[in-house]
Amino acid sequence: MWKGLAAPPVRVARGRQNRGVPSPASAGKASRAPTREPGISWYPGHGVRATLGMLRFMSNAQAIGSVLAVVPLLLAASSRPGLAQSAGRREPDSTLQLAFTFDDLPAHGPLPPGETRMEVISKILTALTRARLPPTYGFVNAQWTESEPDKIAVLRAWRAAGHPLGNHTWSHMNLDANPLEAFEGDIARNEPLVSQLMQGGDWHWFRFPFLVEGNTQEKKNGIRAYLRNHGYRIAAVTMSFADYAWNEPYARCKTREDQKSIRLLEDTYLRAAEASAEYSREMSKRLFHRDIPYVLLMHVGAFDAEMLPRLLEVYRRQGFRFVTLEQAEQDAFYANDVDLRLPASADTLEHALSERGLPLPARPSPARSPDTVCR
Ligand SMILES: [Zn+2]
Repeated sequence: MWKGLAAPPVRVARGRQNRGVPSPASAGKASRAPTREPGISWYPGHGVRATLGMLRFMSNAQAIGSVLAVVPLLLAASSRPGLAQSAGRREPDSTLQLAFTFDDLPAHGPLPPGETRMEVISKILTALTRARLPPTYGFVNAQWTESEPDKIAVLRAWRAAGHPLGNHTWSHMNLDANPLEAFEGDIARNEPLVSQLMQGGDWHWFRFPFLVEGNTQEKKNGIRAYLRNHGYRIAAVTMSFADYAWNEPYARCKTREDQKSIRLLEDTYLRAAEASAEYSREMSKRLFHRDIPYVLLMHVGAFDAEMLPRLLEVYRRQGFRFVTLEQAEQDAFYANDVDLRLPASADTLEHALSERGLPLPARPSPARSPDTVCR
């Protein structure tokens, strides 16, 4: 299913301000990214929203180059020389940290002909191992294992490779579209399988489906109270390039055996990732004059699996060091996600920028929308 935004607005954490810590930063949390779910349960309406989002994404077709060109200048103009120095560098930088997370285990998006979910997850796990990523959270919707029990093998493979699992609700439920009580029930229903597979490990990390945290204050407060009372922390998202959007066109192109179009998808995917990282970094610097540790939203789609080795290399070239979700969210920026006694507050980097009267960076956009490929 789709989250509805192709160019994810970056959601913002809100820790420091609420705690009264004097700092140029409040907190920032992440990019919302759509999700397309596997199998039978498609969520009407999200496709349209995603398409509209992608059109908006496309409207800034010149933006990537502009962002890349402007970032070093902005950094040079920063009032914090010590921090700003690290900004445009491409060599590994211990201050530049990225935590990968994967949503929608055990299955996301359509499969190309002949490919299985186990093959997809195996590719992902091999890439993570070869790149020596630390334990990487995968967020589970156990519903898919009920309709297709063999998918439990996918989750077992994830665990066997040393990676932890977290809760993404049983059915990928949208909190905004459902009563709070139903949503809480969907969280609880997901717990037996996740806890069993984790065998005592920490599975109390929660990723909101569609990255929506409640469309009323009552829901926002209610779900935070529920998660707090059940020992959860929220898995934030501070970087996303709408990776989900390439999986369906990839399946179409594979069906047609259209190699030229697949090359186009590969190119736009990697460029989108690169530009998205620059976009998140620019917003973080405008807000906080530093790089927060970023949490990247990914999905376990077939194209994601195919591209992961190259994607990891893109981030390495940009200077990122890979860390765990726990390590990233130790940053004060994520205080409201790990300490749910704190109130919910403004939740996008864009919003935080506009609240401070700071200009938004140009939004990155792919040279061509993947949605139009192999139609
Ligand atoms: Zn999801």
